[in-house]
Amino acid sequence: MCNSARRVFVTMISVFIGLIFIGFVGSKKAYADVDYDRAVNAAYASENKTITLTLPWDDDYFDAQYVKFTPAADGYYELFLYNPYGIPNVDDVWYDIYPSVDDAYLQQNDEEWINNTYLIDQTAKWKLVSLKKGRTYYVRVGCCSSNSSYNTYRFMYKRHSHSWTRTDYEKGSFEYSGSADWECESCNQRKMEFYPMMNKVVLSRTSAVYTGSVIRPLITVKDVDGKNVNASNYTVSYSNNRNVGRAKVTVSGIGNYTGRKTVTFKIYPKATTVTKVTRAKKAFTVKWKKQAAQTDGYQIQYSKNKNFRSGTKTVMVKNNKTVSRKITKLKAKKKYYVRVRTYKKAGKAKYYSSWSRAKSVTTK
Ligand SMILES: [Zn+2]
Repeated sequence: MCNSARRVFVTMISVFIGLIFIGFVGSKKAYADVDYDRAVNAAYASENKTITLTLPWDDDYFDAQYVKFTPAADGYYELFLYNPYGIPNVDDVWYDIYPSVDDAYLQQNDEEWINNTYLIDQTAKWKLVSLKKGRTYYVRVGCCSSNSSYNTYRFMYKRHSHSWTRTDYEKGSFEYSGSADWECESCNQRKMEFYPMMNKVVLSRTSAVYTGSVIRPLITVKDVDGKNVNASNYTVSYSNNRNVGRAKVTVSGIGNYTGRKTVTFKIYPKATTVTKVTRAKKAFTVKWKKQAAQTDGYQIQYSKNKNFRSGTKTVMVKNNKTVSRKITKLKAKKKYYVRVRTYKKAGKAKYYSSWSRAKSVTTK
């Protein structure tokens, strides 16, 4: 053979051997079969602790190694796998629930492991998985070369706490609903929060009687769906809520809410009582208890009708110190009913107390 023919021959042999080698490596990368004995007998990994896996050498190639672990709680976990020599070459990794040896059919997990960016080791790969408490999960690690640096891997699992970053945000208010979009910086999970429009402020009572102290009805805020808005989303302030008149309640959005709404309730003067009614000729004198606080005066009603439904006359007493009044020009020997209430002017409106109990009197 001449030199050139010899070179061609050697080249062909090299290519042939090369092709065999590629085929060999390629077939070993798949790890189609699970070694159940190894899986069942795998070492247990503890949460947050690195466990070293030494890939076994079977006959003429590396075989897969297994590790198992049982999460203590439901939730997201980060699984880490890395080669301590900085060879980030995790060719074949999977996990699955492995209920029993007989039923041991473990499925390849297609999800990619993610190159580590911030975690335990710069060469680590990791993935986020949602796991169930008390179940046993298996991880199989396989690799690809006879280089001894490739047969050592480290595995760790730990609880994942999402580190949410808000990517979009609009507060809710009394005019519109709001929402927020969140994304976990490390695993890219997303979530959305919705802040339904605050629709109605409901007071525990819409009227009250003057007591001398501030009056604060309880507040419930309903959203557009009629559900209660959590009280942490607003503050409540009261004004003009001691004296007779129209008291104000202002609800202001805080946190994920903004804007304000004011509602009112009425405070009426305290009532009085009729203390005595004295008969007279075609007349009577009515006396009542003085009610000076937050009262401008009194209103007297009398009628021959017990329920004041007909023929009722009204008399205003415009001084709160006046506590009796003689009613004249009545019919003789007739039974009259009389009652008194207080009033106070606040703003443009007059606020009246409830009526006293009626007393009856028969004229002479
Ligand atoms: Zn996350």
